[in-house]
Amino acid sequence: MGARVLTAVAGWPVSHSRSPAMHNAAFAALGMDDWLYTRLPLPPDLFAESVPALPASGYRGINVTIPHKEAAFTLAESASDAAAAIGAANTLTFRDDGIAADNTDAHGFLNALDEPLSGRSVLVLGAGGAARAVVWAAREAGAREVLVWNRTYERARLLAADFAVEAVARPRPVEVLVNTTAVGLTGAADDLPLSETGDPELVADLVYGDFDPPVSAWARARGARLTDGREVLVRQGALSFARWTGQDAPVTQMREAVRSCGDASFAPVRFRG
Ligand code: NAP
Repeated sequence: MGARVLTAVAGWPVSHSRSPAMHNAAFAALGMDDWLYTRLPLPPDLFAESVPALPASGYRGINVTIPHKEAAFTLAESASDAAAAIGAANTLTFRDDGIAADNTDAHGFLNALDEPLSGRSVLVLGAGGAARAVVWAAREAGAREVLVWNRTYERARLLAADFAVEAVARPRPVEVLVNTTAVGLTGAADDLPLSETGDPELVADLVYGDFDPPVSAWARARGARLTDGREVLVRQGALSFARWTGQDAPVTQMREAVRSCGDASFAPVRFRG
């Protein structure tokens, strides 16, 4: 076999990521036998010096996850509109003209919804990195209003100011609810003001596990349409795959891989890329 074309997820920690299973299933489905997706555990103090050395070691691109997304954006020579607006990258592509940054969490989220946000009211719970991608995406997709609620109101206020949307101390009833908080990994449903969100017809929960996290379970119990965190993971991964390979991603096989590689010993699992 010739030289491998390498891809990876860089994070700290990164051991439980489902991205290797997902991307290697995609390579297998397309007969790309010389491609491989690995884990790159990189502590924060080694990230900036390690990443520029990757292309010479055979890497075509990497996904980047906690805590490196802002650093990844900073060291890239060019950036997509999404990465530039969000100020963080989850995908780096090593090209002849340098490192290109993208944030596929944003369009991956929109693709996972599989229905338009145009003209609809959207409430985003949370004000961390995932919230930045979702708020930007919802605004770009033409949502009529985008509200941001966060446990720590000041962070919601700062995020809302960055994207010219509205921070709310208490939710208002909306048509679409998006959970970007870590509730499901930590805390409980009671930590979120779900009962004040009206009767959203569509709920997206970025947290995922082998079983429904609390916001997903709440949405199902109410009969709302649910986009779960695994689907968002698959769709952001599909966009990264296309960036690196120039090919359409085999989404069905990627979805099967993500849904079958859970760690039954704990659920929900922590998202790491
Ligand atoms: P982050 O930057 O650390 O932000 C965490 C957010 O959760 C903050 O808004 C924080 O509020 C809130 N939070 C934490 N514990 C809470 C509690 N008990 N009650 C209420 N709010 C709480 O993390 P992130 O990178 O945005 O990721 C957030 C979630 O999205 C994670 O579960 C991650 O796994 C998931 N995610 C999934 C995908 C995917 O592809 N499915 C992609 C990206 C992220 P404070 O500001 O008050 O601390």
